[in-house]
Parts: sequence; structure tokens; C-alpha cells
Amino acid sequence: MAWDFSTEPEFQEQLDWVDEFCRTDVEPLDLVFPGAAYSRDPKAKALADPLKQQVKDRGLWALFLDRDLGGPGFGQLKLALLNEILGRYRSAPVVFGTAAPDTGNMEMLAAYGTREQKDRWLTPLMNQEIFSAYSMTEPQGGSDPSLFRTRATRDGDEWVINGEKWFTSAGARADIIFVMCTNGMFVVPRESPGVNIMEFPALHNHIRYENVRVPADHLLGPEDGAKVLAQRRLGGGRIHHAMRTVAQVKLAFDIMCERALSRQSHGKVIAEHQMVQEMIADSYAEINMLRLLVLWTAWTIDNSSTRQSRTQIAACKYTCAKVLREVSYRALHTLGSLGTTDLMPLQAMFAGAPTMAIADGVDEVHKVTVARNVLKGYEPHPGLWPTEYIPAKREQARKKYEALIAADPALAAWADAAAKHRLPRY
Ligand SMILES: Cc1cc2nc3c(=O)[nH]c(=O)nc-3n(C[C@H](O)[C@H](O)[C@H](O)COP(=O)(O)OP(=O)(O)OC[C@H]3O[C@@H](n4cnc5c(N)ncnc54)[C@H](O)[C@@H]3O)c2cc1C
Repeated sequence: MAWDFSTEPEFQEQLDWVDEFCRTDVEPLDLVFPGAAYSRDPKAKALADPLKQQVKDRGLWALFLDRDLGGPGFGQLKLALLNEILGRYRSAPVVFGTAAPDTGNMEMLAAYGTREQKDRWLTPLMNQEIFSAYSMTEPQGGSDPSLFRTRATRDGDEWVINGEKWFTSAGARADIIFVMCTNGMFVVPRESPGVNIMEFPALHNHIRYENVRVPADHLLGPEDGAKVLAQRRLGGGRIHHAMRTVAQVKLAFDIMCERALSRQSHGKVIAEHQMVQEMIADSYAEINMLRLLVLWTAWTIDNSSTRQSRTQIAACKYTCAKVLREVSYRALHTLGSLGTTDLMPLQAMFAGAPTMAIADGVDEVHKVTVARNVLKGYEPHPGLWPTEYIPAKREQARKKYEALIAADPALAAWADAAAKHRLPRY
């Protein structure tokens, strides 16, 4: 019997350690020195590096990578269980060497890099000696790659890149940027002449690539292979978003339930009001539906590939945005005025829901993917009526009993009545 929702005791021990470590070491760092885990400032590093070392000593560094690439090789299902914890704490992904956008870029390098490219970029990225960004979206359109215009032209031993990219997260602080061109994926050192970063937006950068020259060996994967590499990169990124969202909605749920039991209104604790109970019951069901969808998808990736799991990954992406929106709204609402302030994490969580529905592909595009792929498993019915049209099915089924009906008038009367949609008389 292969269906099993339990966790191996040895892995549960790891999960318990991660839970405890995040509560006692990662969250305090987040609260007292926000951003320290990401900073290159020596004082911040002195605070964060010992935590990262503990993770490495525990064999949990770079959780998403296979063993031969320096990770623990847990696979996606175990990663999902870990992310259910890490996603609760802002700095946890970086303390565990598993923060976006580096993770997706590392996956791409791991899958498509030459030995030399891996040595040059993958190893230092894994060690957080350098940071990366991903430049795909362009100002004239993000959802439709056929609108992208950034292009590389070969000039002797170099490629010359020209184009404009919009919303490159952390582009301004990256050491290398993975630039998607119409004819290939290129690794561009940020300091290259011609990489011009606009003043706005501050975090997700607008970058003009103007006659940027990179050596020929900065092409990652095959020429004209950018779309395949992008799919590989984004597939992983999307399921990781969904895994961390499970953690966020569980946090919102915990806050909501605690408050519902702690506050009085109109003569009873608010948890006793049925409309509050409805919010709790709906949230409980939606969180678990999302969680099971994510775990099932992670399991499918482990047992096939990211590519073969595309439909499920797309479903996870828009479902996590929806559940985040619904549950964080209900939790915020349950806390009343306090929920609307930045004294609780709920307002930021709720504000993050529309972002989740856009980043790494808008909901509509993922829904189209799901609908198209699902429909490949169906065919139009041949005649006027659907396959499940009851009179036709009944007529067909009657043939199975022809001998019986012919021999027994009572059974014949029963079958005739059913054929005329009359209730049978027992
Ligand atoms: C927080 C965040 C971080 C990001 N980081 C990066 C990054 O590091 N690198 C990078 O390259 N990009 C990044 N992006 C950009 C992201 O990939 C794009 O925003 C996304 O692909 C949508 O593109 P767009 O913003 O141009 O919206 P548009 O493509 O203009 O879409 C706008 C709206 O049009 C409608 N629409 C579009 N297409 C369809 C369709 N086929 N069917 C129905 N309706 C449709 C939808 O309502 C959609 O919301 C990030 C975005 C966010 C929000």
C-alpha cells in the first residue's frame, strides 16, 4: 500500500531541529537586525554567518540541490516539508542557502552549465560569495515571451547584447545577471560596461543593456535555447513559492485562531460567533487543499520531472495566490483594527497576495496552461448528446439484461418505467 502521509522519523527529527532553530535563532535576528542575513556588511555577516554555518554542519545547506551539486539531495517533497517551516521567517531561505532569485539561477546553471561555468559561478553562488539576478521581463510585456526583443549578436569571440529589461529583482546588488535574449540565455557580470540600471523601481530593477559585451563562453545552454532554460528555471521557482505560501497561510491561520479565542464581543468569545467559525473552517479546508496539492506536485516532480509536472505546478501557482489572498484577508479581518496595522504581519501578507498572482507569471497564463493541458485528455462527444446522457446510457445498459427482461414481466415493467424517467416502485 503506497499511499502514506507520514514522515520518516529521521527526517521528522530534521524538521523539528529546523523549527526550533528558526524560532530561537532566525526569527530573533530578523526582528532585531532586519536584513542582516542578506547584507554584505561585515557586522551583519558576523551575526548571520554562524547561523549559516550551523545549517551547513547539519547538512541542510542549499536544500534544493542534488547531492552531486553540493546540496543534500532531498528532492522536492522533503523540500516542501522544510519550506512549510522556512516560509514563515523572512530570512530563513537565505540562512538555509535557498533564497530566490539565486535558487532558480543555480538550478539553471546546474542543469545547463558546462563544468567550467559551474566552477566559475555555481560554486560561489552556493557559498553566497556572489549573488545573482534574472532579467527576463521587458517593459513592453512580461506575460508573452514573443514580445521580448533583447538580442545578442555574435562579434568574434564575444556576444554583444542590446535590449531593455523591466523588474529584474535585486539586479542592482547582483554580481551576475542571467539575461534572457531572443537567441539564448547569457550570464552578464553586472559591472560590465553598458549595463545601465535606471533609478526606478528600487528593488526590482529596470535595466538597459546597451552594447554589453560578454565572452562567447557566457552563453548558457544552447544558442536559441532561452525558452527551455527559462521554463526549467521558472518551474522550480513557482513550486517553491507555493511551498513557502503554505507556511505563510499557516501563520495567518495560527494568528486568527489564537485571536478568535482571546477576544470578546456581544457576550461571547468571538470564536463562538458562527461567522468567525465559518472563516476558520473555510481557511482550514483551503490551507489543507493547497498543502496537499503542493505535496502531490512535489512528489510528482521527484517521480518524473519538472517538465512533466507543468500542469500541476501551474495549478499550485495560482492556487497559492488565491489561498494567500483569502486566508490572510480573513485573519486580518478577525484581528479588527490591529490587523490593519504593521504591528502584525497580516497586512503585509495580504498586500503580498496580488504580487503572488503576478510574479513568475500572471494567474491567467497559468490557468490557460492548466486548461489547455487538461483538455488534451478529452475529446468532443461524437453525436448530439454528452457521453453521460442518461437515456442513451440506459438504453445501452438494458442490452445487458435483455434475457432477464424478456423472461420476467415485473422486471420489464420496472425497466420500462425507469426508461421513461419514472421513479421505481419498490
Ligand atoms: C515581485 C515580483 C518580482 C519579479 N521578479 C522578476 C525578475 O526577477 N525577473 C524578471 O524578469 N521578471 C520579474 N518579475 C516580472 C514578472 O515576471 C511579470 O510581472 C509577469 O510575467 C507579468 O508581466 P507584466 O508585469 O508585464 O504584466 P502583463 O503581461 O502586462 O500582464 C498584465 C495583466 O494582463 C492580463 N493578461 C496578460 N496576459 C494574459 C493572458 N494570456 N490571458 C489573460 N489575461 C492576460 C492579466 O490580467 C495580467 O495580470 C517580477 C514580478 C513581481 C511582481
